[in-house]
Amino acid sequence: MLLRPLAVIALGGILLAGLTACSSATAASDGVVTVVASTDVYGDIASQIGGSYVKVTSIINDPSQDPHSYEGDARVQLALSQADVVIKNGGGYDDFVGTLLAGANNPTAAVVDVATLSGLDQHPSSGTFNEHLWYDFPTMKKLVSALAGKLAALDPGHGVDFRANAKTFTGKLTALEAREAAVNAASGGDGVAITEPVPLYLLSAAGLVNRTPPEFSQAVEEGTDVPPAILQQTLALFSSHTVRALVYNAQTSGPETDALLKAATAAKVAVVPVTETLPKGKDYLQWMSDNLTAIEAAVS
Ligand SMILES: [Zn+2]
Repeated sequence: MLLRPLAVIALGGILLAGLTACSSATAASDGVVTVVASTDVYGDIASQIGGSYVKVTSIINDPSQDPHSYEGDARVQLALSQADVVIKNGGGYDDFVGTLLAGANNPTAAVVDVATLSGLDQHPSSGTFNEHLWYDFPTMKKLVSALAGKLAALDPGHGVDFRANAKTFTGKLTALEAREAAVNAASGGDGVAITEPVPLYLLSAAGLVNRTPPEFSQAVEEGTDVPPAILQQTLALFSSHTVRALVYNAQTSGPETDALLKAATAAKVAVVPVTETLPKGKDYLQWMSDNLTAIEAAVS
């Protein structure tokens, strides 16, 4: 009985020493760069670039968690306190990262803000900023390049590996862009409907035109009621065959999404599910390739 408290104290001492070593130094101290990403989308990309020389933690890695309303907890703050690199989407998508990092006492963490990297106007005069940036392949190219640079600065001995991985990844993104261009060449100008802005960067790169009334997708994304007239206008897109496909966010459900799915199915318009986080068992590139395959099939 007497030994137990002593053992606990000793273990506590070891843990504390470990934390200090992790948070104060560059990766050289333990040979592994610690990356914390707001979602598993960015976590997967960091793993692809860093390989076995990084330890990646994704804060949101469960399809049932909604990044828009996630707040985090003490466990997340502890992870952030130990991070060498922090990846956040930015643009108002995952504000919990900044809030928790501010309280994590980790001033040396290199923060990668994807919205800032994108160079896109985050306060467009018309409409609202679409923060679902991982559907925008040019922005993902900027991300992998920035990540390779940050990892190489923290672990110069493996800089060659990080840059080689970034080059391979960028090549695969270029292949996905070529498929977008092919859809554009074959079906550019065709209309599509969405439930939320999630896939819009990909759809517009493929030349497909979003015909959904903006009031509809904004209400669904924000969880407010869709005005009945707007709902009728949206449902008519299918019966009138104004659109070739309904691309819907499978991670949120509700009466409006259900009504659209029903109307699209009844009119024999293709339905394509998309998500905000990684589907189980797929990495980012496989996921995006599958998204494109579904869209190719829907509009061909
Ligand atoms: Zn969203």
